Amino acid sequence: MQLSVAKCTNCGAHDVHPTNARSAFWHDDRLVVVEDIPALQCAACGEQYYDDATIVALDLLRGTGFDPEAARRVMAVTVFSLEDALATAPER
Ligand SMILES: [Zn+2]
Repeated sequence: MQLSVAKCTNCGAHDVHPTNARSAFWHDDRLVVVEDIPALQCAACGEQYYDDATIVALDLLRGTGFDPEAARRVMAVTVFSLEDALATAPER
């Protein structure tokens, strides 16, 4: 990886280290997860930085429409509605 971010531009911390990130993307009405994204992550605030090659690769993957046939695996996602939470919230 050829990232040169030594200092977090989000919070200014100097605790930025390589990690294997994962991220979720909406594609039309489908939620997809991409794993094994090489990134630098700030240990202080959690901000993640991708290098140009990684961003291009993500764009290319997005361009394929996240073909389900190419997915490594399927994971279940729990879905919540804030409507339910608001309905049971105490009166203010
Ligand atoms: Zn930070």
